[in-house]
Amino acid sequence: MALMKPQQTTGTDPLADSFGRRISYLRLSVTDRCDFRCRYCMPERMQFLPKREILTLEELATLADAFIARGIRRIRLTGGEPLVRRGIDDLVRAIGRRIGDGLDELTITTNGSQLRGHAAALADAGVRRINVSLDSLDADRFGFITRGGDLATVLDGIAAARDAGIAIKINMVALKDLNEAEIEPMLRWCAAEGHDLTLIETMPLGEIEDDRTDRYLPLDGVRRDLDQRFTLSPVDYRTGGPARYVRVEELDAKLGLITPMTNNFCDGCNRVRVTATGQIYMCLGHDDRLDLRGALREGGPGDIDQLLDRAMRMKPERHAFRIDTPGAAPTVTRHMSVTGG
Ligand code: SAM
Ligand code: SF4
Repeated sequence: MALMKPQQTTGTDPLADSFGRRISYLRLSVTDRCDFRCRYCMPERMQFLPKREILTLEELATLADAFIARGIRRIRLTGGEPLVRRGIDDLVRAIGRRIGDGLDELTITTNGSQLRGHAAALADAGVRRINVSLDSLDADRFGFITRGGDLATVLDGIAAARDAGIAIKINMVALKDLNEAEIEPMLRWCAAEGHDLTLIETMPLGEIEDDRTDRYLPLDGVRRDLDQRFTLSPVDYRTGGPARYVRVEELDAKLGLITPMTNNFCDGCNRVRVTATGQIYMCLGHDDRLDLRGALREGGPGDIDQLLDRAMRMKPERHAFRIDTPGAAPTVTRHMSVTGG
């Protein structure tokens, strides 16, 4: 389905792309580094970016302000693993000061490994909800998928965040023959703990050792299976991201489904992503980008705004992911950990 008729923003207007979509959500990556090596995300010997290319905390805060000035209302800090970035609490505090002053919400997506040490600082800075990635509740399987992650530490981090008053959404990438049988137990665990659960289809981003088609589990089938066992009622609830929610009546729980492959959600896209090196990507599923770091470090006043205006003109209508050909190269060569999930 085609989107609305083209329009453009310039100068200091709120950001809107050439399909009439208002862009109000920024995913800001603070590092491409990570203490896990999830098999669907990156290879075991991942090459990380040179540290000198990474934006400083001050540059990241300046960029956040520049986006807020152009109407960004929600910022999600991500990575790599955002909580391994040294000084992350300072950055969260700096951006958190904008909540209620242009910014509606600051959130973070984390693997939970360092969460206990940061939960209080996140809550103090105004973070009210976070996403924690958790693909298994079985310690061995969790260790296998993450290549060394410790389940008990992550669960302890989740408990610390909850105790600090932060609402938790669990993100689970659905993986055929790997954690497929754990979807229902995960749903029941989340319901019992009071967490929302979102299932995600694996996307073809970056080279990994496995063939992604072997692990790709279409969520339309998962939903049909769950439909046999539970009453799933569609709900209007949205969190500003791509998840579509259903209520699982028997468990009194919300279940989100992120279905880039089986059910394109690009019509309602409201977001852009900035990497830890200051590259703005207008779409997760395309390689087009613009360099905000150059404008930050060498540009004059107005340069960032000009780039944001160009970015809006370049934002594509939809992603171009394909995952149906075994052995095919990934649609996009950079890893999810580089763009920021
Ligand atoms: N390290 C943090 C974490 O794992 O939550 C934040 C960054 S991670 C790249 C963000 C999200 O992307 C996680 O929920 C992860 O499971 C998901 N992800 C990573 N690679 C993916 C892929 N190829 N397809 C789908 N989701 C992916
Ligand atoms: Fe790290 Fe997150 Fe990628 Fe796992 S999904 S390797 S935790 S960035």
